[in-house]
Formats: sequence, structure tokens, C-alpha cells
Amino acid sequence: MTRTEIDTTDDRHTQIAVDDPSTGAVIGRISVASAEQVADAVARARRAQPGWADIGPRARGQMFARSRQWFIDHQQEIIDSIVAENGKAEEDAVIEVVYCVTAFSYWGKQAPRLLAETKVRSLSPLVIGRSMYTRREPIGVVGIIGPWNNPLINSFGDAIPALAAGNAVVLKPSEYTPLTALLMERMAKECGWPKNVFQVVTGAGATGQALVDTADFVMFTGSTRTGRAVAARAGERLIPCSLELGGKDALIVLSDASVERAVNVALHGALFNGGQMCTSVERVYVEASVYDKFVTRLHERFNEVKLGKSTGLGSTDVGAMTFPPQVATVEEHIEDALERGARVLAGGHTLTSPGRFFEPTLLVDVDHSMKCMTEETFGPTLPVMKVDNAEEAIELANDSRYGLQASIIGKNMARARRLAAQLEAGCVTINDAQTNYMAFGLPMGGWKESGLGARHGAEGIRKYTKLQAVSVNRFPMNRDPHMIPYSPSFYRLVLRGLKAVYGKARR
Ligand code: NAD
Repeated sequence: MTRTEIDTTDDRHTQIAVDDPSTGAVIGRISVASAEQVADAVARARRAQPGWADIGPRARGQMFARSRQWFIDHQQEIIDSIVAENGKAEEDAVIEVVYCVTAFSYWGKQAPRLLAETKVRSLSPLVIGRSMYTRREPIGVVGIIGPWNNPLINSFGDAIPALAAGNAVVLKPSEYTPLTALLMERMAKECGWPKNVFQVVTGAGATGQALVDTADFVMFTGSTRTGRAVAARAGERLIPCSLELGGKDALIVLSDASVERAVNVALHGALFNGGQMCTSVERVYVEASVYDKFVTRLHERFNEVKLGKSTGLGSTDVGAMTFPPQVATVEEHIEDALERGARVLAGGHTLTSPGRFFEPTLLVDVDHSMKCMTEETFGPTLPVMKVDNAEEAIELANDSRYGLQASIIGKNMARARRLAAQLEAGCVTINDAQTNYMAFGLPMGGWKESGLGARHGAEGIRKYTKLQAVSVNRFPMNRDPHMIPYSPSFYRLVLRGLKAVYGKARR
């Protein structure tokens, strides 16, 4: 049985076959962890976690340095694993490796600072003389659930800050791309990480559900539909969760933009990873004065894109469609657009046997009555729409239930920044697209139905901790004047003082 034939919500199957989307060949098999097996893994992680927390962030940073070296020594093996199970271009897999190597450095070095005790001052007269600070404790066992589009960074990548904060991690990768996560389990072992601090459980939705049922925190990356179910269950259990969900990211090309830059950003932003990115450029709005030039040049560039199985660097630009049902979604969006009057300038077709591919597709004459402009397509397609002015572009960009990333290309920085501030998106790029994901210092999270919380930035590690607020009375008296038994004269004094200090503002 191949994974394309299984009902992934049914965990009666004990094995799932993993195939290479660019050939259809079965390249591995994974077992489906039952709810009991997930609970056992979480229990083992819970026992291992205090020791991991106790060694402190600096020692964990040293462990990460060893892992970073392992990545350098095994980079081709990791890349091959990602390409084989996901079908992406080798260059796109390189980016995943770069991300993790630099994430080990970033979180290893920054964790002590970001998790350090913080002094707090209070102006309240009720706490005069107290010193105050906040401190953080790891949450315990972090359950990470990942999608199939980036087998390394959207799964293991999120484990790095969670581990840096002293948590144990149980990772449930996508059933479509689980092999690279299992390679990470081997990495942890070979690098001498303490046993059970990082574990991988494999399986489909039911295995993910079991992890939400048992972990102390859930970091979920995937569709908005599943994200809602995860959040609802986390709400029932009253455990925190962080959700990185879908997007319908807009790119706005202003009249003063360098058209060549705009074309390159649009092309790469739409086709990187075969368009199977939450931060893919999924729609473009171009100011009328540069529209024709932009479309003509983009069309030429679409015709030059190489599509096919990756056999090494430089062999292809766009790889396979990883997730079989996604092909139907892409086809549906294109058919719907054509029925409503859009034109396909390039591509438009599925290619199969061997493998599963979709031609890089450029659409024009599109509008918001079409699914390709309002629903997440998640494929190598790009609809481009002409707008009268930037204000119309902003209005259309915000006409979405999603709010993950939005981008603006233009030369006048003051104007670009003013417009950027009007975008309803958690991540905004000016003269770029997708760069935020690689900037660990910048929080990356979605507004609206694109998610809750953020990865990266201070919040990207602090969310994996419990905050404790401490107030210390260094010079305690036997009894404070406000304590029982109450002293009316003291409280009269308090009221007079309140009037003297704050009453003036009313005059
Ligand atoms: P999905 O929601 O179908 O599956 C994601 C994961 O959830 C898989 O591991 C799956 O087995 C598991 N799962 C399924 N049902 C579950 C349940 N009831 N409880 C717990 N876990 C369950 O998503 P997908 O198709 O794998 O991924 C594509 C989606 O991911 C796209 O919408 C894309 O935009 C989004 N994505 C978002 C980001 C981001 O950072 N915002 C990054 C990558 C992908």
C-alpha cells in the first residue's frame, strides 16, 4: 500500500509507505505510532527533560555546536533525504540545511540572553521597597507537528529553540515526508544528546492528535483547517499552542519599482519550492503604468524555467508536487479562473509518469471572483492583476482571510513603508519576498487565519517557557501599615495622598 492509497485518519494501518514524488518509487516505510506509543514517548521525554534543563543553556549550546558540525559533515545526505521524499529542487533543500546550521548557532548563542532573568520596576506606592524580576522555566515536553513542504525546517527547525529553552521535544513529522525527521533522530544519537530528549513519532493525523492530547505545548505548522482542530483540543486541555498556518501572500508592484527586480522577486517568490510555501507569492497587483512591461518580462522568464526531477545542483528550477491532493487544488483553481475569464500565458498543465509535476503557470486577467486570488493554491502558479493605484492594491491585498506575508516593490522608501504599514499581514517585506523566514531575530507569525504566535525573535523561544514573576521584600517589617488589623488613619492618609498626587491632573 502506498501513502497515496491510505486513509491517513485511520490508524488501523500500522505502516505507511513513503514515495519519491518525482518518480513515484517507494523509498521507505514508517510505522504508525498508536496513541499509547505516543503517550509512552511523551512520558519518556518528561523523565528526560529535567536533566536537560539542569545542564543550562550554555551546555545545550555546546551540544548544538556538535550538531552543527554533524550537519556540515552530512550535508549531502540530509539534502538527498529532503529531495527524495519531497521532490524539491536540490537548491531548495540547501536552504533548509543552511537554516538549521545557522539556527543551531543563533539559538545556542542567544538563548542565555533571551531567557535571562529580567529586572522589573514598579511605580506603585503599594510595592515600595520590593525588588522584582521575571524568570523562566521550560514548559516540559513540546510536541511539534509538521507539514510536508519543508521536511527539515518546519519540523526539526522548530525543535531547536524549544530544546534551547530546556524542553524535551517529541516531533510528529508529516506522514508524507517523515524520513528527514528520522535522520534527525540519528543525528541526536550520534551527537550524544541525552536519551529521549528528542524523539520522533511517525504516523498520520491520529498520531498528531495523540501528541496534542499528551504534550505540554504544541507547535503546529500546517493547514488552517487542522490548526483549528489542534487549537480547539489545546483549549480543552488548557495547554498553550503556537500555530503557523496557511497564507495567500500578495506582492504589490509600485509604479516606481525596478521592473527587473519586481519580476525576479515575483518569479522566485512564486516558484521557490515549487510554490509549496506558506510564504509563496500567491498573487501580484501591479500599478497600471508598469503592468505591461512587468507582464511581458515575467512571461519571458516563466518560459525559461526548468521543471523536472532534481538530479543535483543546476538540474532543475521547479521540482515535483509533493502532496497528491494538491495537484487537484491547483487544477481546480486554474479551471475556475479560466471559466471566469482569466488567460493562461504560460504552463497550466499537470505532468505525470513518472512522478507528479505541475507546469509553472502564469495567469492574467484575474480578479477576486476567482479562487486563484482568494484561496491558498500552494503550487507553481502566479496570477497577476492590474490595479489603478497603490491604494486599490492595498485594499485587494487585505481582502483575504489570511494574513501571513505581504510584499511591496518600489523605490520611494517613505511611500513603500507608509503602504506597508497598511498591510494586514504578520510579515512584510519591501523589495523582497520570503526573507523574513531566514531572519531569526524577526518574529514570523501570521495574522487573521494564518496563525497564532510566532516563530523566531524573542517570542520564538520565550513561548517555550513558563514565566514566573518574583517580588522580593528585602527589608520586611513585622507588620506593614496596610495589614490587618486595619488602621483607619493609615487608609485616610492613603486617600489624601492619592488626591494630592493624582487629583491635580483633573484640573
Ligand atoms: P495538514 O494540516 O494537512 O497537516 C499538517 C500536520 O498535521 C501533518 O503532520 C498531519 O499528519 C498532522 N495532522 C493532521 N490532522 C491532525 C489532527 N487532527 N491533530 C494533529 N495533527 C494532525 O497540512 P499539510 O498539508 O501537511 O501542510 C500544508 C499547509 O501548511 C499549507 O496550508 C501551508 O500554508 C501550511 N504551512 C504553513 C507554514 C507557516 O509557517 N505558516 C509553513 C509551512 C506550511
